[in-house]
Amino acid sequence: MKTRAGLFRAVGEPLEVVEIDLAEPGRNDVVVRIVAAGICGTDLHQVKGEWQRPTPMVLGHEGAGVVEWAGDAVDSVAVGDEVVLSWAPSCGHCADCARGRPAACVPLHRAIGNGTLVDGTTGMSLDGATVYRGTAPGAWAERVVV
Ligand SMILES: [Zn+2]
Ligand SMILES: [Zn+2]
Repeated sequence: MKTRAGLFRAVGEPLEVVEIDLAEPGRNDVVVRIVAAGICGTDLHQVKGEWQRPTPMVLGHEGAGVVEWAGDAVDSVAVGDEVVLSWAPSCGHCADCARGRPAACVPLHRAIGNGTLVDGTTGMSLDGATVYRGTAPGAWAERVVV
């Protein structure tokens, strides 16, 4: 599957809208057609070079949209639902998640620093090379798999 996305490559270079590849969604995934996405100070830290995270990266972590497809193991949302993407898709298993503090989830923070999802993947690529996700969702795209 392909989607257009705003790609950040390097400090001082303009964002570029390109068509990237999305990994095929799995049983636990949903495909969201993004309708709106915010521009946050977190994005600007990276664009200005104040934070170093891997590139190229699809920034944006405040996306809202409509579920276009849902895997057969997904029971929390359905096709057609309007959804908001979380910048804190915590692992759900670590000590912090277990005590009800998902924002303190260490695997989540490691993933955000690495530009990936909690499972270490991004599901995004360009010409076979990894495209990283900004603060988890990577919402400056027409479609995302989450
Ligand atoms: Zn933000
Ligand atoms: Zn956790």
